Amino acid sequence: MSDLNQQMAARYRNDFLKEIEEQAEMGEWVKMCMQCGLCSGSCPTHFQDAWDHPPQELFMMIRAGKREEVLQSKSMWMCTSCYNCYVSCPRKVPVTHVMHGIAEYAYRIGRSPKYQPTQHLSKTFWDNCTKSGRVNEVNLTQTLYFKDGFFAGIKKLIEMQSIGLGMVKARRMNPLEAMGAGHKCKDIKGIHAMIAKAKEIEATRKADKD
Ligand code: SF4
Ligand code: SF4
Repeated sequence: MSDLNQQMAARYRNDFLKEIEEQAEMGEWVKMCMQCGLCSGSCPTHFQDAWDHPPQELFMMIRAGKREEVLQSKSMWMCTSCYNCYVSCPRKVPVTHVMHGIAEYAYRIGRSPKYQPTQHLSKTFWDNCTKSGRVNEVNLTQTLYFKDGFFAGIKKLIEMQSIGLGMVKARRMNPLEAMGAGHKCKDIKGIHAMIAKAKEIEATRKADKD
């Protein structure tokens, strides 16, 4: 168990609903759910194998105190943010945002499922685009292709080579980006300052909840 996870588990012992309400963004909405199932019924992707629990079920599990099952669920990471559930809910629960709030909390305390592809992409994309202020597409693609090891990465590169070459020919991709060239934000210091400020505001907001 990570330190933060241990601290949170001890702090909210036997009250997982309160933990989600206080720690997950929009988590305070979970108690408004009346289990009608419209969100799950309207979700276009929840029947996929990778979804272990549709939103309505997750909300019920939170109230039932199933902490480990919820935090380690892959379901939140499978949400495509289509907002079908959001507009369907008769209680106006912002289901999409709650799903992402639970996912972020699970990640923050080190309980999210390891090697989940969406989580990997989110983190890789964030690290990539905040470094120079713009996405370095070649680096991003390389990182994703090689996430399962060197040979898997080479296999993927070979599979995708015709698409890659087409993009280079059409000037949709600059191979020199692999060496750090390519487009960059003009005011990267300004971007970093904005991100630092946003993190400061977020930390203050979280501290106020504590
Ligand atoms: S649609 Fe709203 S009230 Fe119905 S189960 Fe989903 S979150 Fe709960
Ligand atoms: S926003 Fe996410 S949880 Fe809601 S219906 Fe779409 S995919 Fe399903």
